[in-house]
Amino acid sequence: MEPVTVVLAELVERHRADTAGDVARYIPELARADPHAFGLAMVSVQGHAYQAGDAAAAFTIQSVSKPFVYSLALSELGLAEVARRVGFEPSGEPFNAISLEAGTGRPANPLINAGAIVTTALIGGDGEAAFERIRDTLSGFAGRRLTVDEDVYRSEAATGDRNRALAYLTLSQGVLERPAQQACDVYFRQCAIEVTAVDLAVMGATLANGGRNPVTGRRVVDADAAGATLSVMATCGMYDHSGEWMLRVGLPAKSGVGGGVCAVSPGQFGVGVFSPPLDPQGNSVRASAVLRELSAELGLHVLRHTERARSPLQAVRTDHGAHHLELLGDLGFAAAEEIVHCVRRLARDQPRPLVTVDLSHVTAVRPIARRLLADCAAGLRARTTVRFVDPAGLVRRPSTDRSDTPGERAERAE
Ligand code: GLU
Repeated sequence: MEPVTVVLAELVERHRADTAGDVARYIPELARADPHAFGLAMVSVQGHAYQAGDAAAAFTIQSVSKPFVYSLALSELGLAEVARRVGFEPSGEPFNAISLEAGTGRPANPLINAGAIVTTALIGGDGEAAFERIRDTLSGFAGRRLTVDEDVYRSEAATGDRNRALAYLTLSQGVLERPAQQACDVYFRQCAIEVTAVDLAVMGATLANGGRNPVTGRRVVDADAAGATLSVMATCGMYDHSGEWMLRVGLPAKSGVGGGVCAVSPGQFGVGVFSPPLDPQGNSVRASAVLRELSAELGLHVLRHTERARSPLQAVRTDHGAHHLELLGDLGFAAAEEIVHCVRRLARDQPRPLVTVDLSHVTAVRPIARRLLADCAAGLRARTTVRFVDPAGLVRRPSTDRSDTPGERAERAE
């Protein structure tokens, strides 16, 4: 199996047994979700996609739609105009809290319900046109045409009195741009859009890539809107758990009560997770646990970033069927993922090519990077010879690696 996929599959297996939490029930149709479903997907800003578990299972996007609609509003109106109606401060309160800023009447941020309804109401056109504009944008982020789960939409429309109350409250404060019922209807439809973990990963990768979808190559929102959206996700994305999330996981993210979470490693990856049982804050239990581990293992915490962000591949030279990859700098997960992808592509080119990976100018290798390179070489053994030029012994072939304890290997990587 492809080495990055193996890492994701292991993460899913490790967390599958965690059965804590319960599916959302306040929207009756969501109570039918399968608590065992569990999928994980990752997409790089080069558009490489990886997945494990039930990553192709469909569920409703719910609150994960909020940052993407915010980025659309920012793209259409600009930050100053949007900020007149919705702020950017974490409320520290639950998603459906009645929290409006004293003085301005603005909802605290676009990721709590009051702020999301106000943001949705900023999208131009009548109700139908506004919804289609939102659907087109979310489809652009996902790179495919997204559909609506009509049952979930009807279920929320029939029971969403608290959201209607929030809409009327914002209307009374003069920050809601549409009739309250219409604003809620568009918002409920937006929440009922169906996605998969893979879709959330592509959507996250589009934000990570400054607003251009790395799979389709199409620009969806401008880079300023993408950056502002990530900032708000970093501070407000995980409901009243956002502070601890930033401390422990360190990735801008947004969760939804359908069990989805989209997390973003800016400039590197989008990650999508799906698992319906939620904790008391409304965040998916397995998604939170798996993202915490993924961030630590892959070294993705944005504020603990010590690796060079630029590509480690200095040159790829090909001479009579032999390929020579010259690497430079520190190799972390993103660097190793890029190298593995490149080596596997070269290995497909012709029968039994020789691929030399030159680490003479590499300064440090994270354990996860060492593992991916070794697994890549081992996995291709039958059809390609992958040779490491490794004077400092930073990456060893697994067969000669037996005397190393994990501790010794980790130490060398520092
Ligand atoms: N449609 C849901 C609501 O407004 C979304 C909540 C969520 O995912 O946090 O209640």
